[in-house]
Amino acid sequence: MQTKKVYFKTFGCRTNVFDSQVMISKLQGHEVTENETEADIVIVNSCTVTNSADSGVRSYINQVNKDNSKKIFLTGCGAHSKGESLFKAGKVNGVFGQSEKAKINTLLAKEEKFYEIGDLEFVDENIVDDFVGKSRAFIKVQEGCSFRCNYCIIPSVRGDARSINEKLILEQITRLASNGYGEFVLTGTNVGSYGNGEKRSIASLMKRMSQIRGVRRIRLGSLEPTQINDEFKEILDEPWLERHLHIAIQHSSPEMLKLMNRRNNYKHDLELFNLLSEKGFAIGTDFIVGHPGENEELWCEAIKNIIQMPLTHIHAFTYSARDNTPSATMKQQVNGAVAKERLKELTNIIDQKNLAFREKYSSKELEVLIESKHDELYSGYDQFYNKVLVQSSEDIEGDWINIQDYKVKEDENYAKFKRS
Ligand code: SF4
Repeated sequence: MQTKKVYFKTFGCRTNVFDSQVMISKLQGHEVTENETEADIVIVNSCTVTNSADSGVRSYINQVNKDNSKKIFLTGCGAHSKGESLFKAGKVNGVFGQSEKAKINTLLAKEEKFYEIGDLEFVDENIVDDFVGKSRAFIKVQEGCSFRCNYCIIPSVRGDARSINEKLILEQITRLASNGYGEFVLTGTNVGSYGNGEKRSIASLMKRMSQIRGVRRIRLGSLEPTQINDEFKEILDEPWLERHLHIAIQHSSPEMLKLMNRRNNYKHDLELFNLLSEKGFAIGTDFIVGHPGENEELWCEAIKNIIQMPLTHIHAFTYSARDNTPSATMKQQVNGAVAKERLKELTNIIDQKNLAFREKYSSKELEVLIESKHDELYSGYDQFYNKVLVQSSEDIEGDWINIQDYKVKEDENYAKFKRS
């Protein structure tokens, strides 16, 4: 009998990338393919953070269903929010929660359709040896979130915050480092919650990681401003820490932060960002535009405040109401077109700040991990998490290169590279 081919379609965040890699590493008796058309089975590792995430997953499943020779299985955060309705509608052959992913072989062997949503208290114990098609490794260190931001569905589809066993994480990194990985991205639903309530923290974990042979650069997923404490500030000058931090503020109007039930406040965020900027850090953030209550006056205040902040990167999107969240029932909804305009205004400001940052540091040597090649140009990210395009006649994919001489262009830095 011919071996069945399995294609993994991963939506959403780096935690999903890790979860897909776990399923790939566990799979037996099947062949993993990166070519969807030849697949017999499609595993959809879904995201549900916004309405557009949901519709993206739904339209993808509808598209795959056009070829009824394929079997489709749904997992990821969308399994908890949309899984039941997609299952009842007969759109998928099976639905399983993240806690069930290690049982992928048993699940795929089932003749009958199944709905196994599992639980949201599980703590991952899976280790992977590789990251297919990636030159850096994503390490899940925690799962879930115990914050309760009024607009957010994540705690209800990922559960409360819990941390992965530290020994397991360090063994995971030791294995990947011995397999040639030098850059590690610590990920989770709320990474900064790692070790909460226990005698460990994200800062202490990184110090231990940096002792492992082969660990060259450590990057972090999104942190919360309230999690950058004194212990974390002690590692800011470490050579193995990237010179970029992504710290989610979500808004810059004090009134809006209250409406969103955020734990951070603008005054503290500004002080923190100025401290990091003085140390030469590039700073990224998350921002939701158009949350209910964001009238013109509060928007103008938010823009005035954001201009004061030494930001260089932003992950901004317009608010979308999520079922069963407090914000979804709030009055003063913001018009979609107005929100889009505000989003453009905000991202333009940060794009300019990014360009100004790269010009300010244009005499700095860049340490770049080359990740891919497109149209004769290699690309990768430097220590400030800025994109660098490199022209080279040598094959440098997956290599670390140091660049002194480069051009600062509108959207990225550009260099020619020849090994000396
Ligand atoms: S910190 Fe807030 S926005 Fe982030 S996952 Fe938790 S509840 Fe959602």
